[in-house]
Amino acid sequence: MPREGGRRELIDPATEEAFAQISAAGPAELDRAVAGAQQAFESGWRDLAAGKRAEILFAISKKLRDHADEIAAIESRNIGKPITDAKDEAALGARVFEYYAGAISKFFGETIPVASGGFSFTLHQPMGVVAAIVPWNFPFPIACWKSAPALAAGNCVVLKPASLSPLTALRLGELAHKAGLPAGVLQVVPGAGGTIGDALVQHPLVRKISFTGSTEIGAHIMRLAAGGIKRVSLELGGKSPNIVFADADVDKAATTSPMSVFANTGQDCCARSRVFVERSVFDRFVEKFVAATRALTVGGPDDPNTQLGPLVSTQQREKVEGFLTTAKSREIIGGDRPAGRGAYLRPAIVLGCETSDAVWREEIFGPVVCIRPFDDETTMLREVNDSPYGLSGSIWTNDLKRALRVARSVESGVLSINSHSSVHVEAPFGGFKQSGLGRDLGMNALEGYTETKSIYISEE
Ligand code: NAP
Repeated sequence: MPREGGRRELIDPATEEAFAQISAAGPAELDRAVAGAQQAFESGWRDLAAGKRAEILFAISKKLRDHADEIAAIESRNIGKPITDAKDEAALGARVFEYYAGAISKFFGETIPVASGGFSFTLHQPMGVVAAIVPWNFPFPIACWKSAPALAAGNCVVLKPASLSPLTALRLGELAHKAGLPAGVLQVVPGAGGTIGDALVQHPLVRKISFTGSTEIGAHIMRLAAGGIKRVSLELGGKSPNIVFADADVDKAATTSPMSVFANTGQDCCARSRVFVERSVFDRFVEKFVAATRALTVGGPDDPNTQLGPLVSTQQREKVEGFLTTAKSREIIGGDRPAGRGAYLRPAIVLGCETSDAVWREEIFGPVVCIRPFDDETTMLREVNDSPYGLSGSIWTNDLKRALRVARSVESGVLSINSHSSVHVEAPFGGFKQSGLGRDLGMNALEGYTETKSIYISEE
């Protein structure tokens, strides 16, 4: 149990009351954790046959499934996530371990004939100690989708959860070791980003940093990592577009779009917070979007019918409300606080904004959407790409050629056509531009946790 970093209270955002205390690690405890991970790496994990590692990852997956309800209840209490979503995310974490348990035996190298005769072949080798630093909006699934591929590839992991949401990461560490993961292979170190986060990134034994969080901290980590030429992958912020053409199933687009931005109370890097609607269907779209938004259930996270819980904290709510204040000359539908305690905020729809407005340009990380009409594809695409971010997005059209043309033109790492789905365990996930570097999930993630070694064999 760490204690050097002091104790802090965790506040339930639904009640604004403290419900747990957490001991944070300090520099010496962090150093011991990294040294322990390095020792576990050298003393066996890296050399364990891939099939043996896979067996352990399958066992972790099963353990997580067996404890899914408990994990979901912890997450829901900790960050106010609706229990139904928290259950889905607990199941997603288990599936990620299962996927990489199966994937590692299919992660092949190459055999390359070389011009001078003979051939080279490639090996994917683990890097060593990987630092995984994760945010508070999807604490459990993101902890899993960093740990599972890193471990499958033979690395050891030091996982630093966000200060607001350490509980499910700690439970993941316990359950993984109960499932048979050798001591030291996965270390979970709660503590403050500015102190132990920085120390972790700069630790000489850490070879790779896999970070999910804000673009600002991602850039800071990149700078810290530069001195040691450490490998870095970054999953950062977003301001994703949702593009609706007049030939689409407009009713379906309009009624499903609210949850593409308001799910997780808008605290989602993939939130489709900039909606572009072709002018001829704009009024119809807005009418249905507003009605569907009003029908969403805002309520207590423990109610299975709740779709939108509180924000993660009252401070986060104030930050979101600050953005709404900057937009008060625009038409805003909703965005008010329900009566009673808790960091609740009803979803806000902003109409009539300009592309220079802060609400349109900046990542708000709360339940706020802007909807604007467009007249022609070229101008719309210029506005779509006029953003430092490029993470996700949706395109609604029944014209296949247009769908493919627009999908190629949008500067985003992840897109969906006639859907709002962003995350698939089997497919790469990550951003263009300031939304990130490298990819999580799919087979691509394994590349990010390995070095490729080329070995030449002479046939002379
Ligand atoms: P954040 O403030 O950047 O924090 C993310 C993590 O970094 C936390 O564990 C934090 O620890 C740690 N950290 C903070 N300062 C650090 C430092 N100097 N050195 C090392 N680590 C440090 O982000 P957040 O507010 O938790 O999460 C929201 C952001 O994450 C949004 O921008 C969102 O778009 C992004 N996000 C991106 C994705 C994606 O896949 N692209 C997914 C989810 C979220 P503390 O909590 O202790 O400060």
